Amino acid sequence: MMDELAKRYQAVRERITQAALQAGRSPSEVQLLVVSKTFGPDLVAQVAALGQRAFGENYVQEAVDKIAALRHVPGLVWHCIGPLQSNKTRLVAEHFDWVHSVDRLKIAQRLSEQRPAHLPPLHVCLQVNIDGGATKAGVAPAETLALAQAVAALPHLCLRGLMTIPDPVDGFEQQVAVHREAQRLFEALQAALHWPQFDTLSMGMSADLEAAVLAGSSMVRVGTAVFGAR
Ligand SMILES: *Cc1c(COP(=O)(O)O)cnc(C)c1O
Repeated sequence: MMDELAKRYQAVRERITQAALQAGRSPSEVQLLVVSKTFGPDLVAQVAALGQRAFGENYVQEAVDKIAALRHVPGLVWHCIGPLQSNKTRLVAEHFDWVHSVDRLKIAQRLSEQRPAHLPPLHVCLQVNIDGGATKAGVAPAETLALAQAVAALPHLCLRGLMTIPDPVDGFEQQVAVHREAQRLFEALQAALHWPQFDTLSMGMSADLEAAVLAGSSMVRVGTAVFGAR
């Protein structure tokens, strides 16, 4: 079991390395966020033993329990990547290091107010609805700059970048085309904001990480390819 997990983890790392080299980028520019939702603390500890530190979680209560169970593992960094309701912001502000799914100012304000004073600012990415599905979470691309400016002004948050979850599309070129939209928006915001910490483009998952890395992703979020099917 451990061997299988180690093999899959190393295979994902190798995919990232190859994708970066193909894109003419340094592999060190692309971070791996291992998405551990639905998998227990034992499996997370096994991946941590391979050197992985950054883990992504979708369900707040599940994550809080897991974070507590793994307190003894030094240096873990927890990223909240799931949809955020107002009644969950306090737990997120108290337990996570990063949030990728901020898509409205009210949620950002609550996270900033509720971030405990003894902790460093909460790192935040804005979730952008890059492919425009009407029912999808995420701020509309045209409204992203205004939201970014408002979030950057909040005292206990550190605005780090953008996150996208495009609907699956067939074919590598089609995947790249969607991710290029996010890359263009990200670069336009970098130019408009002059905000040095705005350095994170969180995009790409198990099925499309190569396309995302080609389009400038700096953080891929990978669950299935590491842990197997949920
Ligand atoms: C579950 C999830 C992932 C990981 O998806 P896989 O296809 O299992 O790699 C990445 N990002 C978000 C926001 C998720 O909810």
